[in-house]
Amino acid sequence: MTHERTREIYDRALSVLPGGVNSAVRAAPQPYPLFARKGDGGHVVDADGNRYVDWIQGLGPLLYGHDLPEPVTAAVQKRVAEGPVFGMPTELEVEHAEFVTRHVPSVEMIRFVNSGTEATVSAVRLARAVTERNKVVVMQGGYHGAQESTLVEGDADHPKPSTHGIPQSFAKHTLPVPFNDAEAAKDVFEEHGDDIAGVLVEPVQANSGIAYPVDGYHETLADLCEEYGSLLVWDEVITGFRVGGLGCAQSKFDIDPDVTTFGKIIGGGFPVGAIGGKTEYVEQFTPSGDVFQAGTFSGHPAAMAAGLEGLKYAAEHDVYDHVNDLGRRLREGLSEIVAERAPEYTVVGTDSIFKVAFTRADAPPQDDCCANGCRQDPECARFGACPKRGTDAARMETDRYARLFRPAMRDDGVLVSQNQYEANFVSYAHTEEDVERTLDAYREHL
Ligand SMILES: *Cc1c(COP(=O)(O)O)cnc(C)c1O
Repeated sequence: MTHERTREIYDRALSVLPGGVNSAVRAAPQPYPLFARKGDGGHVVDADGNRYVDWIQGLGPLLYGHDLPEPVTAAVQKRVAEGPVFGMPTELEVEHAEFVTRHVPSVEMIRFVNSGTEATVSAVRLARAVTERNKVVVMQGGYHGAQESTLVEGDADHPKPSTHGIPQSFAKHTLPVPFNDAEAAKDVFEEHGDDIAGVLVEPVQANSGIAYPVDGYHETLADLCEEYGSLLVWDEVITGFRVGGLGCAQSKFDIDPDVTTFGKIIGGGFPVGAIGGKTEYVEQFTPSGDVFQAGTFSGHPAAMAAGLEGLKYAAEHDVYDHVNDLGRRLREGLSEIVAERAPEYTVVGTDSIFKVAFTRADAPPQDDCCANGCRQDPECARFGACPKRGTDAARMETDRYARLFRPAMRDDGVLVSQNQYEANFVSYAHTEEDVERTLDAYREHL
């Protein structure tokens, strides 16, 4: 396997794109990122013509792999042929909104935007406007896109921007707390409750090693929001239409958020985001309300067609059965391999998301562990050692993953997540053979 062409393109890219890429995480692969030429089902082909089983799947949006189902492709091509954008509403946006409100329990009304980031920006603005309060609670190590209110680290007493370019005077309105820590959530509400506009939380922390919620945690957040009059904002950009099927993670965990942000799968592989929720809140966006929200490309016909037709296809076929079944096989197979070859590591993930977290835990036997990915079972001997929150990922064997394991997998023709933080995604195009090949590669290289 050679990467001559990739190296050549990367060399050129470094002169004209910062870091050679247009989104930071794409440069994470060591020693350099592969350049994609094309996709083929569950596989991707790089610029040198090398083929890989692809578990990156566009970082989440691709429920169908790289070949969209025929009706999806047809709908997108038709829209493109009829003109890219109008500055006028289309019936397609209405149809997509009808589909989402029919399937996602808490969503009565929705505003489409162009990225997950844009969705969380607007959701925070909405929460602040509705409550007339400034502070937002976020989870340490969570991810809500590249936006000012959530790129904040530290703790509730000492929040600070997690990147250059954000004034400390912005960061002071953000209260980071540890995910899965009900006491910390109660404390922050006790101290700041009357100033808290909302809590922004991912149902499963899927951008930072995949932390599954402990029993009762989301209920605690929901109760606190209710008690203090704050908005519960679920960021389902990654879990939406992946975890919990068409009902999203909120149907799986039986939580009724006030506002939900979407992205990724809801646009079927095209740029998209959305803010959904109770009518009384979402209607506060302009023009029905006073919270300014707008976008030249919002509700873009190609993204609406891909998203809607993709979800309709999932409603009529065994899509979620297939991806969740392969996800379970991967997690079960990986659990066996890890028990044998790397007992300090932890298999995480749910539905069609999976990962081996390179935890440094002492190695109690894995025999009684959740075989289908960590479920935070308090009875499990490893309960104290499995990842509880996003910040745990930073303490994992990140170098071993990035410098040894991932390149070895790549050279074996299997692309797994670009670093220890991101998740792996199963698509409808993946096969049992892909699963077996991948398990063989893990067995070889772990
Ligand atoms: C990907 C992601 C975002 C950001 O979405 P973009 O489309 O990349 O702006 C926000 N929140 C979560 C949970 C995500 O996974």
